[in-house]
Amino acid sequence: MIWLDFSMFLVLFGLFFYVFASGTVTVLHRIYLFLHTVFMVWTLFQFVSQTTTSTLYRIFYLSISYTGLSLLGIGWFIFIVFLTGQSYVIRKSRLFIIALPALISVAVVILNPGGMFLQINEELSPLKQLQHGPLYWIMIIQLILYVTVSFIIMFHKIRGENSERQRTLIKTAINGMFVLVLFAVSDLLVNVLIIEKFERYIPLISIGMALAASYLVHAIKRNKVLDIIQTVQRDVMNTMSMGVIVLDENDTIIEVNKVIKSIIRLRIGDQFNPALLGPPFKKEALKEFAIFFEAQRKQPLDRGEIEIAVHFDKYRHVIVQSAPILNNKKTLVGRVLTFQDVTELRLLVQETNTQNEQLQDRNRDLLIMQDELFQANKKLEHMAITDGLTGCFNRRYLLHQLEQEVVSNIRYGIPFSIFLFDLDHFKSINDQYGHLVGDEVLCSTVAAVRNTLRFTDILARYGGEEFTVYLPHTNREQADLIAEQLMEAVEHNQVITGNGDQPISVTISMGVISIEHFEPSDLADPKAFLRELLAQADAALYEAKYNGRNRIVKRKLA
Ligand code: GH3
Ligand code: MG
Ligand code: MG
Repeated sequence: MIWLDFSMFLVLFGLFFYVFASGTVTVLHRIYLFLHTVFMVWTLFQFVSQTTTSTLYRIFYLSISYTGLSLLGIGWFIFIVFLTGQSYVIRKSRLFIIALPALISVAVVILNPGGMFLQINEELSPLKQLQHGPLYWIMIIQLILYVTVSFIIMFHKIRGENSERQRTLIKTAINGMFVLVLFAVSDLLVNVLIIEKFERYIPLISIGMALAASYLVHAIKRNKVLDIIQTVQRDVMNTMSMGVIVLDENDTIIEVNKVIKSIIRLRIGDQFNPALLGPPFKKEALKEFAIFFEAQRKQPLDRGEIEIAVHFDKYRHVIVQSAPILNNKKTLVGRVLTFQDVTELRLLVQETNTQNEQLQDRNRDLLIMQDELFQANKKLEHMAITDGLTGCFNRRYLLHQLEQEVVSNIRYGIPFSIFLFDLDHFKSINDQYGHLVGDEVLCSTVAAVRNTLRFTDILARYGGEEFTVYLPHTNREQADLIAEQLMEAVEHNQVITGNGDQPISVTISMGVISIEHFEPSDLADPKAFLRELLAQADAALYEAKYNGRNRIVKRKLA
């Protein structure tokens, strides 16, 4: 049977290299290889111990072999924990406690106090020479302990697991473990308890190890994809610019990415609470975050977001988002907290706002300027059509208006009238009182005339002290009446000058023409028609002057 141990060792040795050669060596691979090493140590030294007859050497080799076996339980347990994705359970501070039973067992094996673990009695027949003392059972108990806990974890996990791949993986691991346990128990029975009856050493545990290893290598091979995905996920998380903290449903920290690690000291496996975020978060920020976190805990299925100010090298705005992690059955399995630095964004928004404000200011200035320009234009327009001294329309405006009015009047047969009046002996007023008083008299006369006119009548300065009035929709009869009123108004107008002299009154002479009937030929050349009209008005005015002034001469055209 010595060669069976060696063969099993060779099988395990081969598998060891196979795992190494099969590509990526992940954490799970490394943990498995530890377990696999334990298998190899056992088989190899079981084999070696049988190659010597020296008691001392045999004890020595067997001690190494049992040391390996002592570590089988803990190795298995860690492997299962990683396989089921609960690596956060194993933390450095906990590792000692977790490994304590195994360490005690190793110590017992190595020290073998008073041969209470293992003894070789050379006086007995070769098969019965190996005597297991009471301490041997410490090793067995710790192995049973780890194996039982591992079984519990696996059965618990397989029930809650939704991923088919993960379930198959755990099933394979259970099978592997089952095979190993079966062979180990058989080994215990055959080689320790009833060795006398069997009369033969059968390396059952070595066979079990080789078989279990084959199972596990198979599991590792299947798990590789999953492990790579996990590695990629971790890589992605670590290359992200935002901080990520993953919590389970009990707020235990399961994962923390690089960004968070570089700022905050959080340990995987710790219970998360807002105070752990520590110094970079100011008191107020922590308080805000604590309220937010508490609210999230009360409404675990809600997503939430807050923005807080954090002081690292300088003040930073951080958006914290909290989102539930749900499994396929939509039940809550944890929570992910993300921390995103939005300082640059805020600065950009602030800058844009400032620029916007400046733009608005500039716009306001522009509007004011536009209004000023509009007013100036209006003034210019007004100036372009009015007479500066008297404020009535100027000759250009009048002629322009008349040109249009006359055309439509002729076309639609609308009667209209034109007055042309001139101040009598105005030169003598200038001569007697001076030009300034002359100006006052002009303005006052215009004001008096304007009062007698209708809103639609157009009064314009025709030149010097000569004025024209265009009266739309006015026949001869109406025109005569208005002309009389106008004459009277001027005559009664007393101009009080600033000199304190006697009030001055002036008279005017006026030519009046009214057009009531039109010839279609007038339309052929409206400008000539207008020229003719004004010439007629001028002639009437001249006639009024000639006849002694202060009078009206009426002309009827056609
Ligand atoms: P009449 O028309 O009755 O024949 O006599 P007149 O003295 O009014 O005649 P004339 O046309 O010779 O004189 C017009 C005068 O009006 C000459 C000019 O100095 C004066 N005059 C013209 N425009 C203005 C003005 O804007 N202001 C002043 N103060 N005088 C003006
Ligand atoms: Mg005159
Ligand atoms: Mg004149």
